[in-house]
Amino acid sequence: MSKANNANLGTAVITGASTGIGAIYADRLARRGYDLVLVARSADRLQELANRLQATHGRSVRTVAADLTQAADLARVEELLRSDASVTLLVNNAGVGGTGPLLQSDIGKMQDMIALNVTALTRLTYAAAPGFVERKQGAFINIASIAAIAPEILNGVYGGSKAYVVAFSQSLQHELGDKGVRVQTVLPGATATDFWRIAGVPVEHLDQNIVMRAEDMVDAALAGFDQGEFATVPALQDGAKWDAYERARRAMHPEISGTQPASRYGVATAKAA
Ligand code: NAP
Repeated sequence: MSKANNANLGTAVITGASTGIGAIYADRLARRGYDLVLVARSADRLQELANRLQATHGRSVRTVAADLTQAADLARVEELLRSDASVTLLVNNAGVGGTGPLLQSDIGKMQDMIALNVTALTRLTYAAAPGFVERKQGAFINIASIAAIAPEILNGVYGGSKAYVVAFSQSLQHELGDKGVRVQTVLPGATATDFWRIAGVPVEHLDQNIVMRAEDMVDAALAGFDQGEFATVPALQDGAKWDAYERARRAMHPEISGTQPASRYGVATAKAA
C-alpha cells in the first residue's frame, strides 16, 4: 500500500476509466492527490477499481455507470460536471476504434463511434468549461490518437474522429488558454489494451515493436502535461518534428482565405481579367 498523498488537487473526472488507459490515469491521478469520478459502462469493474484506489491512495473515488452514447446517461455526467465545483480536471478518454476499411464497415457502428469519440467528448467539454473559466482553474486532457494525423492506418472514421479531438482541442486552447484553463491533447500510438480486440485485431497480432505498455504511455503523457505541452505524442522521439508540423500549419494561415483563387487553377476572375 502506498502512502496517502495529502495534496488536494480537486477532483478529476475520467471517462472510460474501467480499464485500459483510463484506469491507469485513475491510478496516477489518485497518487498525485486528486479525488476521482470514474465513468464507464461496467459498474462492477468501476467499483472494484474505486475500492482498490481508495485503499491504496486514500482518496475519495466515486463511480458513475454510464453509457456515453446514450443521451440520458451522458446528461447525468454533464450535470455532474456543471454542478460539482470541486472538478478541476476532465480526462476525455472513453473511445472506441475500428480497423476495417469503409467498404467493410457497418455505418451504424461508425455512427456509434462518432457518438462516443466526438459527441460525448464535446458535450462533456461544454459542460465543464464554464465552471473552469469562472473559477479560473481547470484542465482538459483529451485523448486523441496518432490516427488523427495518420488517418490512412486504421478505420477512416476513427482517424476522422481523432482529428476532430485534436482540432477541437486546438480551438479550446486558443479560446480558453488565457482564462486559467489548461488543454492537452494526447496522441498515443498502439498501446497494449483491450481496445485492439474490441476494434477487431487483438494487440498480440500487431508488430510488437510498435506497441507501448499502457502504463508507460500514461506516464509519458502526464510528463508532457507537467512540461506544459499542448500536444503529446508519447512515442515521438524528436519532439521538434511536431513543432515543425505545427509551424507549417500556422504558416499557411495568412494565405488560406482570399478573394482570388490561386493562379495554378487558371480561373479568369473578374479582377484578374
Ligand atoms: P479500452 O481498454 O477498450 O478502454 C476503453 C474504455 O472506454 C473502457 O473503460 C470502456 O469501459 C469505456 N467505454 C467504451 N465504450 C463506452 C461507452 N459507450 N460509454 C462509456 N464508456 C465507454 O481502450 P483504451 O486503449 O484504454 O482507449 C482509451 C482511449 O485511448 C480511447 O479514446 C482510444 O481511442 C485512445 N487510444 C487508444 C490507443 C490504443 O492503441 N489502445 C491508441 C490511441 C488512442 P466500459 O466497457 O466499461 O464502458
